[in-house]
Amino acid sequence: MNMVKKMIKVKSVETSTLERHPVPVLGIDYRVKIAYKNIKVAEVDVEKATIIISLPNKYKKGNNKAILDLAIDKMYEQIAKVEIERAMEKTRIMLGFAPEDYEIKKMTRVFGKCENRKITINPEVVKFDRDTIDYVVLHQYCHLKYKTHAPSFFKLVRKYEPDYGTYESKLLESL
Ligand SMILES: [Zn+2]
Repeated sequence: MNMVKKMIKVKSVETSTLERHPVPVLGIDYRVKIAYKNIKVAEVDVEKATIIISLPNKYKKGNNKAILDLAIDKMYEQIAKVEIERAMEKTRIMLGFAPEDYEIKKMTRVFGKCENRKITINPEVVKFDRDTIDYVVLHQYCHLKYKTHAPSFFKLVRKYEPDYGTYESKLLESL
């Protein structure tokens, strides 16, 4: 591509840093920047410590909070698909049993649940680092053996994660 043309094209993209809380991804806080481009649907890119959300030019003048929240949710969902699949596989191998099925679904005030041998994980768990994601999955796997938080349940949890108390309080604090 012609270099001059390319530079002009880059220059014409306006970015602005958002006045909002940092967005955590896998335990790291990212800044959020918005770019307006000649595109039809929103795009999300991650670059070093910055998440760049590109919106179609027509949104330049509006208050885009709802659209940005949606873009960030979509990003969490995409990361969750990969991360939760990874944690499920790791835990299955470690424990030697598995749920019949699992689902990634947004829930309020809970990161995971286990009902009828099916595990559900909240995609927002990818705000935390991998060890914490792994703990949330392990906790739900243990519910396949013990439904309640009885001592036998925590005995099983402790066998695979002796430091479970730290994860429990970290997750509880964030709700
Ligand atoms: Zn539980």
